[in-house]
Amino acid sequence: MSDSKIARVVAGTLDGLTGLRVQVEVDLARGLPGFHLVGLPSTATRESKERVGSALRHSGYRWPDRRITVNLAPADLPKEGAGMDLAIALGILLASGQIRRPPAALLQRTLVVGELALDGSLRAVRGLLALALDAENLGVDRLVLPAVQQEEVDAVTRIRRLPLDHLASLGEAVQRLGAIEAPLAREELDDPGELDLRLAEVKGQEEAKRALTLAAAGGHHLLMVGPPGCGKTMLARRLAGLLPPLTAEERAQRLRVESCAGLPLDLTQAFRPPFRSPHHSVSSAGLVGGGRPPRPGEITLAHRGVLFLDEAAEFDRATLDRLREPLESGQVRLTRLGRTVVFPADFQLVAATNPCPCGWYGSRVRACTCRPHELRHYMRRLSGPLRDRIELWVTLDREPAEHWWRPEGRDEARRLRERVVAARQRARERGTLNADLDGAALHEACRLDRGAQQWLSRWADERNLSLRRLAATMRVARTAADLAGRREVTIEDLAEALALRPPAS
Ligand SMILES: [Zn+2]
Repeated sequence: MSDSKIARVVAGTLDGLTGLRVQVEVDLARGLPGFHLVGLPSTATRESKERVGSALRHSGYRWPDRRITVNLAPADLPKEGAGMDLAIALGILLASGQIRRPPAALLQRTLVVGELALDGSLRAVRGLLALALDAENLGVDRLVLPAVQQEEVDAVTRIRRLPLDHLASLGEAVQRLGAIEAPLAREELDDPGELDLRLAEVKGQEEAKRALTLAAAGGHHLLMVGPPGCGKTMLARRLAGLLPPLTAEERAQRLRVESCAGLPLDLTQAFRPPFRSPHHSVSSAGLVGGGRPPRPGEITLAHRGVLFLDEAAEFDRATLDRLREPLESGQVRLTRLGRTVVFPADFQLVAATNPCPCGWYGSRVRACTCRPHELRHYMRRLSGPLRDRIELWVTLDREPAEHWWRPEGRDEARRLRERVVAARQRARERGTLNADLDGAALHEACRLDRGAQQWLSRWADERNLSLRRLAATMRVARTAADLAGRREVTIEDLAEALALRPPAS
């Protein structure tokens, strides 16, 4: 047997959110007919034999009556998913002479991705977008892909692509590989303007609206405490509406994460900062990521956006404790069987909780029926690390529902968002946006005059404010000054930040 029977096709797999090149080698040999797949395939990959076999027969091709060996190289890299079906099928068709071979160099620059249905049609592949975005690193400049995924690929890259509906058209498609053109440049998707600007439509809740505005302008973590039905969830959603659109790079990153998580992609919303609100029953892996192979969790899906934890006191404490690392570092490290992946997780935390088990502690609307020890115990369920990171704490009471909506507020909403965007721009230019500044850098950024410095020191001494809380206060005050367009932070800014700090635990 000569080597000429071996066919080589380029496929891809995922390592976390990163695309990796896989060389699919197919060898047909005389001897007992059979199919051998080697090179650390996952269960889903191993099952490609059944899918490819059936798909070939339903596409007018035949299954070669040979001993078929498929090697997925490099051998020590775990291969996951069904996305290598199409590459394996192409390898078999090339090796058995059913498809005429294109120039080898061209084939080595072509990434072939697709899952086969039994009837030969092509299905979408999870994580395809990551492979397309990493094409250059994979050493490819063109892509054969399921037609259903062409639109998402075109939304973030200009790679030359050949969309396929069905395996039956693969032979003809391969002969056109050298001639495919890059898609035309798309017009940049603009902010369509009709955003969720409804914060200003919320009537009343002035303190909460102010806290949300500060949170949006400075990227501060926020907790809202109030009785059931006071609009905490609605307010949290409005916060996302105040955030500026994502940059092109952030948008591609958002889609990469969603593609790798296997979520349906909404290309029309992808320029918005994500808003994720996992239920309090979420598992640890669901929240921070995990599984085998590791998939991104809610905190990574919320990267550069908002993670909203409603009924925060109801979350499992051990699960919440796992937010400690991402809240410190903006990323999460997951290790499984000796392999480590790092996912981005730079999110803004917005949490909401009832004040007590019955929900009415501190309300003017109804009396709280909880016992004192129940009250103490309840707020302690918001664990230490989470509480430590909260920079803004706002207490709400229930206002009559008909007061919430104020449709004439849209112009006000637009102005509010312009101020938020301008404040964020100032903070970004100064390098203080979302930055965990403290010490000298923070003092430098705040430009407190002598009077304000003395006022704050006295305040901190009298109330025994921790250094961490003092720094958080200054960061929030810096944002208040940015919203007002002031270079210096004043005593009024500091007083407002202190009024919105969490109570001592
Ligand atoms: Zn109560």
